[in-house]
Amino acid sequence: MPIQWFPGHMHSTKKAIVERIPDIDVVIEMLDARLPGSSANPLLAELTQHKPGLKILNKQDLADPDATEAWLAHYQAMPGTRAIALDAGDTAPARRLIAACRELAPLRGGMVKPLRVLICGIPNVGKSTLINTLVGQRKTRTGDEPGITKLEQKIVLADDFYLFDTPGMLWPRIIVEESGYNLAASGGIGRNAYDEQEVALELLARVREPYADRLAARYKLDAAQLDARQTPVDALLLAIGRRRGGLKAGGQVDLQKAAEAVINDFRAGAWGRITLETPQQFEQWLAAAQQREAEREAERKAKRDRRSGKRRTAEDDADAS
Ligand code: GDP
Repeated sequence: MPIQWFPGHMHSTKKAIVERIPDIDVVIEMLDARLPGSSANPLLAELTQHKPGLKILNKQDLADPDATEAWLAHYQAMPGTRAIALDAGDTAPARRLIAACRELAPLRGGMVKPLRVLICGIPNVGKSTLINTLVGQRKTRTGDEPGITKLEQKIVLADDFYLFDTPGMLWPRIIVEESGYNLAASGGIGRNAYDEQEVALELLARVREPYADRLAARYKLDAAQLDARQTPVDALLLAIGRRRGGLKAGGQVDLQKAAEAVINDFRAGAWGRITLETPQQFEQWLAAAQQREAEREAERKAKRDRRSGKRRTAEDDADAS
């Protein structure tokens, strides 16, 4: 079943962004380098249209370096867009971040026209960690669970460079089914919004082919177990459960424990550096989701038209009698 997550309204976040945006020269969107497309928020694109944008592919230490290169090239090719890859191990990210923003707004700078930048990102993408590094002191709290509200901060990174962080949460809006699973696997959405076994199965289905060697090494699996044509994905989860020793009384594999182990291993980077989507894959998912949404909307409209047609006929009959 597709993941649905409605963690709460975003009116205050939307309002804060809308109010701030006229004074903003560059919008930074922090993305998770393991799932750049899925961790982008379409609402942000709507609210910040026409503003130059810097994409920060964060947590690059966990992502596949080749895939990160592909995503960087994908964003760099977009008009008014720059992209850099970062991770929390970078102790001096300000220089690259400032340089990229200056490229995007070359006419701003100096005390009279300071460069004003807004930083956004869905929860858990690493925004607080980056801001802490930028500020150079541990002022904001960071944690594993999405959902700590903060007030707007203005961080002066240089005399003529202001970074704004809006209050409220920019929750992911899941329009692409595959994105829901990728977000759940990476820890981007709340735990009670998904079923771990379902997410683990989707995750294994996604990585078993491109990263077969990693899974083989981690769980001592053979080629047949990793081949989708020979082993269904639930049998693969079962095999991993057996290897991980998550057995119930009676020797049966505890599938819930196996699923949790798979998700935790992925999050902790125990399979090495892995990316869950390529730019081409994400574009296909998005196009298919948009097509499905357009079809659903057409069906809804046809139903409404039929209902109002029936109502009109009934009224005509009543008038005639
Ligand atoms: P926020 O909700 O966007 O402010 O995210 P946080 O800064 O609170 O980070 C969420 C989690 O991701 C924390 O457990 C961080 O330690 C971790 N984290 C943040 N940046 C990185 C990174 O570059 N690499 C890795 N591996 N973990 C990170």
